[in-house]
Amino acid sequence: MEADELYDKLKSINVDNPLCTYTRERCERLIPLVNEILALKEEKEALILAHSYVHPDILYTVADHVGDSYGLALEAKETSKQMIVFPAVRFMAETAKILNPEKVVIDPNPNGGCSLAGSITGEEVRRLKEQFPDHTFVCYINTTAEVKAECDVCVTSSNVTKIIKNLPNDKIYFLPDKLMGQNVKNALGGAKEIEVYNGSCYVHEEFSCSEVDALRKTYPNLSVLAHPECTESVVQKADVVGSTSQIVNYIKDHESDENPFLILTECGIASRLQVEHPNLQLVGSCMMCKYMKSNSLEGILSALKNPRQVIEIDPAVQERALACVNAMFMSLSQCV
Ligand code: SF4
Repeated sequence: MEADELYDKLKSINVDNPLCTYTRERCERLIPLVNEILALKEEKEALILAHSYVHPDILYTVADHVGDSYGLALEAKETSKQMIVFPAVRFMAETAKILNPEKVVIDPNPNGGCSLAGSITGEEVRRLKEQFPDHTFVCYINTTAEVKAECDVCVTSSNVTKIIKNLPNDKIYFLPDKLMGQNVKNALGGAKEIEVYNGSCYVHEEFSCSEVDALRKTYPNLSVLAHPECTESVVQKADVVGSTSQIVNYIKDHESDENPFLILTECGIASRLQVEHPNLQLVGSCMMCKYMKSNSLEGILSALKNPRQVIEIDPAVQERALACVNAMFMSLSQCV
């Protein structure tokens, strides 16, 4: 890949943050790293799965697939490659390992935490199960393998409402995201009795109604798209609520609209949209996830050269976590 090609791809990104601004000089500095990764990736027959929130210089150079946690979990399930490098956060690399226990899964991120996944442990779930013995335990995919192993079914932001609605039990314990849990309760209108844990995403909980109101005043024909990890009051002001992939797909179908868009999720999605739909009018401020943005081309190169953070999961935990993730695939195939 040439520096000019990379600059042409990334020059339209404008999200009010120097980390996401690409000059020709910056692209020239990145290109040797990119080409070394591409050569090593081929030599080692590795697959690189990147979440949309990581830096665009990863998404548009070395990644084989870009997407959200659900889409990338499917890619991990379907690949025949024996090595998966997963620039995202730790729970996503763990999910790939849960689905592919025989493959080598590498987390190239030195700081792959997540405020949601870090909010609850397997031990805490065991305590809650004693307290709520009649409930079906539903976990968001943003959880560790240990937590998934304790739960009945896993969900993602794109399918959470559908799966909970179709569960035979009316008593549900949803964890760990209190904001998503409240949004699902509202969407189901009392059809299920839902207890919710107390975690939250430190990025999405920051979006405020006052920003939405102010922008609606400035742009009366504004379209607001929000992720369900945002607060209940923000979600209620949105025109569309969906996962990052649902937001990207909505924009694909509406890119010819003349109205501006406000995207209420981590600003990796705004930069993706600016690359893929350069004529789109996006407004609003940038909220960045420090965990996702800890990924770098240097980290990926080092992981390919000398894999350090290879994901290992206790086989007993892996088996039970797999049952929880497979329950999601099974439930989706049965949903009407
Ligand atoms: S954006 Fe929020 S939910 Fe996503 S990885 Fe960062 S902290 Fe976790």
